[in-house]
Order: sequence, then structure tokens, then C-alpha cells
Amino acid sequence: MSEESQAKAPETGATTSSQATSGPGAGPRTAGSRPQSGGPGGRGKFFRRKKVCKFCTEKIDMIPYRDVRLLQGFVAERGKIVPRRLTGVCTTHQRRLTRAIKQARNIALLPFATRH
Ligand SMILES: [Zn+2]
Repeated sequence: MSEESQAKAPETGATTSSQATSGPGAGPRTAGSRPQSGGPGGRGKFFRRKKVCKFCTEKIDMIPYRDVRLLQGFVAERGKIVPRRLTGVCTTHQRRLTRAIKQARNIALLPFATRH
């Protein structure tokens, strides 16, 4: 079975007259663009310059005392706990951090004094 399908497009030599479907009085376009009213840049209340507590930003509630690397970021070279003025840790987390560091010391994850 062989069937040739030829699509024949009947060409109409004479174009029909343009039908006036859309009149001028079709109504104004209701676009969603509203004119901004209220002033430029109303947002921007507070701009905090202060360091934000790392644990607060990362939403760390329990400070893992096993994470030595994390703790070492808050411990000075000699094993001293860096005051929160320098670290920017909030009071709550500083307390927990201190606890975690002390815990880490007790299980010898952090040195009391650096060996040399
Ligand atoms: Zn915090």
C-alpha cells in the first residue's frame, strides 16, 4: 500500500476585505502598572553595623563542644576565650560557648595551654 499525501494549499488570489473586528472604542487597557505613590525607598529602617552573633545567624542553639575548629575560632592562641566584644557573639551564646570550650578542655579537645 502506497499512498502519497500531498498537501495542497489552495491559494486564494484575492484577499478578502479586512473585517473591522476591533473598533476604536474597545476600552482602555487596564494594565497592572500602578504609579508609585509614597516616595522613593521607604524601606530601610535599621542598618546594623554591629557584628551579628554567628550562632544566631546560623541558628545554632546548642554549641557543639566537639567541634574543635568552631571553638578554636573563639579561643585565643594561648587557649584564652576571646571576649565577645571581639567576636560579636551575643550574651546567650557566649555563655554557651564558654561552657562548650570548658567542656572541650575537659575532654582534652582543646588544650589548656599550647604545647611546644
Ligand atoms: Zn547568639
